[in-house]
Order: sequence, then structure tokens, then C-alpha cells
Amino acid sequence: MTEVDVVVVGGGVAGLSAAAALAGSGREVMLLERRAHVGGRAYSYMHPALEEVVDSQHVLLGCCTNLIEFCNQAGLAGKVRWYDRQTFLEPGGNGRATRASSIERSRLPAPLHYTGSFLRAAMLGTVDKLTIARGLSGLARGNHESDREDVRQWYRRTGQTERAIRHFWEPIVLATLNDSAENCSMKYAGKVFYELFLKASAGGRLGIPTVPLSEFYASGAALVERLGGRVSMRAGVEQIAQQPDGRWLLRTGETELMARNIVLALPFEQSARLLTGMQLQSPAEDAVREHLLSRMQRFVHSPFISILLWYDRPFTDLDHAWLLDTTIQWFFHKSKIRGYAPERGSYVELVIAGSRHELPLPRSEILGPALAELERFFPEVRHAKLLKSGILKEARATFSVTPGLENDRPEQSTGLPGLFLAGDWTRTDWPSTMEGAARSGRLAAGAVVGTPTRFLAPELAPEGLMRLLSSDPATA
Ligand SMILES: Cc1cc2nc3c(=O)[nH]c(=O)nc-3n(C[C@H](O)[C@H](O)[C@H](O)COP(=O)(O)OP(=O)(O)OC[C@H]3O[C@@H](n4cnc5c(N)ncnc54)[C@H](O)[C@@H]3O)c2cc1C
Repeated sequence: MTEVDVVVVGGGVAGLSAAAALAGSGREVMLLERRAHVGGRAYSYMHPALEEVVDSQHVLLGCCTNLIEFCNQAGLAGKVRWYDRQTFLEPGGNGRATRASSIERSRLPAPLHYTGSFLRAAMLGTVDKLTIARGLSGLARGNHESDREDVRQWYRRTGQTERAIRHFWEPIVLATLNDSAENCSMKYAGKVFYELFLKASAGGRLGIPTVPLSEFYASGAALVERLGGRVSMRAGVEQIAQQPDGRWLLRTGETELMARNIVLALPFEQSARLLTGMQLQSPAEDAVREHLLSRMQRFVHSPFISILLWYDRPFTDLDHAWLLDTTIQWFFHKSKIRGYAPERGSYVELVIAGSRHELPLPRSEILGPALAELERFFPEVRHAKLLKSGILKEARATFSVTPGLENDRPEQSTGLPGLFLAGDWTRTDWPSTMEGAARSGRLAAGAVVGTPTRFLAPELAPEGLMRLLSSDPATA
């Protein structure tokens, strides 16, 4: 039987990050992935009916230091397009034209880098801007917000206006935490607001992969192999049994594998399934498992819907835009971002994040209203012909950072010798994102070698005035 030092189960961003860190430090690593592609939830595939490679848009931010470092190691730096300007569109209609506002990074030092464009932004009035500035100033010392307070309570406590919430805070909360304010802890929203708008001017830069996601993350698997690790596809782990000598036996379909260490890099519900069926050697270890499983029951999913549209011609020059006051929240001009030849027409994606209400609706009840809303932002679309359309529903897109969840997010060391957890849902200080997943994988790799933070990239250091204002540990 094959025996390996470390088996990483799951080839999402967490598993790839753990395997790359361990292989890079000279450990013998094998990564097992159930599907035919890596990337996990950040994946693309050939849609049989559409005859197109499709994915749900994933973006990264300048503050995602572990993910960016991983991408750089994997040779992906040239496959991320970075943007310093964000466009917010208010819909037109009833004789009114669409109105655009831009928030753009300037050369001013943090936290003043967005000030000029923020003051000019037409989507907000003076009072809205003042309340936003007051809200942000309360966060300037760093990430010290309570995990017990939800974001709606924070809006009330800091006197946010209805329009400041609708045109600024709520779009950001939905885009980064994939749920609405009442379901999100201020600990994570505070982290996001601080990293994006205050700490360092690069923190809020928006990065968009320029190739489909499975192609993107295939370079991550190639990195693991280049560093000496092995990657085995279509190798779903079905059962794990602890041996009397402490090693772990893994069953994948027909084959068996022995490992001294395992990193389970799976979503919480799939980790719970494997943990439940795991054979352990002592009642004390059973008790550790039961405690872990009871904490995992507090996690809930939040869905995400992507509406993919192919037109015969472009109808805007924008690469992407925030869409205000409508059910559709974000527009991505995928053919432009990917640099497709003009004769391929225009491929766009509309996003509905945190879409619990829309998830059960039939296709027609999502597509029809979305097309009507798109026309209110881009009247030119009336002259373009819709060639084909698809709707991707991801019911288990992310976990929600519900208030009070922090204590139940487990560390990467489980208390069971040789068994480690990774995955965006484990304790990382980050919400359900690719950066959270990358951090979790690196923390798990650190736990395997006995120094949890060994592979972690530092967060962006506070810049400019933020060096004086922030009590963030990165200041030191
Ligand atoms: C539609 C959508 C949009 C999103 N947008 C963004 C975004 O813009 N920015 C962002 O940062 N994040 C975004 N996210 C969240 C992001 O995708 C996740 O947080 C991140 O990819 C989680 O990575 P992970 O490795 O923890 O888990 P996963 O990606 O779920 O990886 C787990 C892997 O384990 C494999 N696996 C499962 N069971 C087994 C088994 N028994 N044996 C072997 N392998 C197994 C799975 O096939 C999978 O490949 C989005 C998610 C979705 C779904």
C-alpha cells in the first residue's frame, strides 16, 4: 500500500495552498481531488447546452495577500487584470438617464486615497457622505469590531442614512460577505471596510481573472507538482480510519492509501460527513470529534446566482460596474476582460449575491426581470441581439459570517494527532473568500510542521496617516 507523509483532501484554493506550502518546504505531499478539475468552488466547465466554458465571476482584492502570493508563485500574475476605479450606476427610466459615479484610487496617502472621487460621487448626498465618513472614522484604529453585533445594528449605532446604506454599505457587504447586513457579523464587515477603504491604498484594488477559473487554478496544481507534490484527480475520499499506531488509512473508491498526516481541505458540510464516518481509536478522540461536529452545526450557507448572457455586439465600454437599486447587483463584461475577438460578440455576467429569495425561482422569473433591469442601465442593449443565456445557481456558494460564529470556527489543528482542517470556513479572520481559503491552507500547512503562521504572508501594512491612527499589529 502507498504510504505518504501528508495527504491533502480537496483541490480547492485551500487544498492547493496547503499542498504548495508543504511541498515547497520539502514535505512529501499527495493531493486528492474528487472532481476532474481543481479550484473547488472557483471552477469553470464546458456547459453542454450552451456549448461554452462557463463560470461564476470570482474577484480578488489588493488586500488578499496570501492569494496574490499564491497566484504569483503559480505564474498567474499576468492572468489577473487589476482595476483602480469602480463605477457605480443608478438606473435610468421615466425620462431619466443612467447616472454613473466613480470611486477611484488617487495618489494621496491612506486613508485619503479615495477622498476626491468620494466627494464627487453623485450617487450620495452630502449628509450620506458625512455619515459614511463618520462610520469609517470609527474603524480607523483597526479591526476591533464585535462579533456579536450585526451590520444592521452598526448602521443604526453610527447613524447611517438610508441612501448611504443602499448606495454604499449594502452593495459592499453583499459583494464581500455574500449575505445581507442582518446576517453578517460586524467583525467581518469591519475587517472588509478597514482593508478596502482605510488601511493601505492598494487594499481596495479589484482583480479579475482573465481566463476561466479551472484554467486559472490548473496552474495552482502545476505549482504543487513543480514543487515535488503529487496531484490525483477523480480521487474522492470515501472513508478515513485511524490506525492503532496513529497513522491514517484513506479509502478512495477501489484504492487505499496510508498517511501520517491528513489535511481535510473541504467545505464544512463535507468535512462533517467524513468526520462522522471516521474510525477513531479511543473514547477521548470520539469526544474531540463530537465537539468539532457540534460547532460545525452552526454554519449556514448563502447562495449566489450568475446570469450569463451572450449578445451579438457590445453595448458598453465598461469592463464591470456596480448596479444600484435593482435585484441584479454587479455587471461583468467578460468578453472584454478576457480580450475576446470582437466577432465573438459580447459575453456578460450579471450577479445576484446572497440570493436566498431568488434561488427557488424558475429560470424565466430570474432571467426576464434581469434583462429588463439591464436595459435600465444600458439602453443600448435594445439594439443588440441576445444569442443565448444561462443561469448558474450555487446554493452552497459561501458560508455566512453570522454574528457570534467566530467561536465556532475551528482552528486548523483538530486535537486529533495528525488530522488538520483547512477550508474557508476554518478560523482565518477572513470571511468566505478565496483569501480566507488560501490563509486556511497555509495555516493548516503551518500546523503540520508545528509553526502555524510559518507560511502565512503578512497582511498589507497600514500606510500614510494610518500608521499613526491604526493599532493594527501590522503597524509594528
Ligand atoms: C458563485 C461563487 C462566487 C464566489 N465569488 C467569490 C469572489 O468573487 N471572491 C472570493 O474571494 N470568493 C468568492 N467565492 C467564494 C470562494 O469560491 C470560496 O470561498 C473558496 O473557493 C473556497 O475554497 P475552499 O478550498 O475552502 O473550498 P472548495 O472550493 O469548496 O474546495 C473543496 C474541494 O474539495 C473537493 N472535495 C470534496 N469532497 C471531497 C472528497 N471526499 N475527496 C476529495 N475531494 C473532495 C471538492 O471537489 C473541491 O474541489 C465565490 C463562491 C461561489 C460559489
